[in-house]
Amino acid sequence: MPLAVTHVLLTIILVDLFRDYILKNHKRYMTLHTVMIAGIAGLMPDIDIPLNWILGLFGKSISFLHHGGFTHTAFFGLIFLIPGFIFWKIGKEKIGVYFFVICFGIIFHVFLDFFVGGGAYEGVMWFWPLSSQVYKIHLLGSLGLQNLSAGIDALILLGWLWHEEMKHKISDFI
Ligand SMILES: [Zn+2]
Repeated sequence: MPLAVTHVLLTIILVDLFRDYILKNHKRYMTLHTVMIAGIAGLMPDIDIPLNWILGLFGKSISFLHHGGFTHTAFFGLIFLIPGFIFWKIGKEKIGVYFFVICFGIIFHVFLDFFVGGGAYEGVMWFWPLSSQVYKIHLLGSLGLQNLSAGIDALILLGWLWHEEMKHKISDFI
């Protein structure tokens, strides 16, 4: 259930905080471009939703692509480490880091669906393809707070805007 905005914002915020407070003097490895790519990757697992619509238009259905399937596995995220390490090895560190943040964005999305609730209704197949066992905590659902997700979106957005204003002067960031 985390809404699209929550997925994108939380991923961007974490990557941006990492860049500001941990990388500090090594920021050249992570540009604002990298932060944007991370945000898009944070939504990427839900590509299974439009894919299913499109397949549905043609009367097709591929179980592997059902919502909460392949794109909601850690395996899908880990695949991006391969090009990441290759680019890093050949001295194209910045491009390598693009792939590392894609991996992070995907796995963080899967974690949010697992922990907060949502997307993958039955749960997340953490160990696919080794096992199809699904796992879930779905915190909001178990607390009966499903309707809170829109409010959470707003709070995250406001909190982040405040941080950006304080940290960079927001006009620099746009
Ligand atoms: Zn999802």
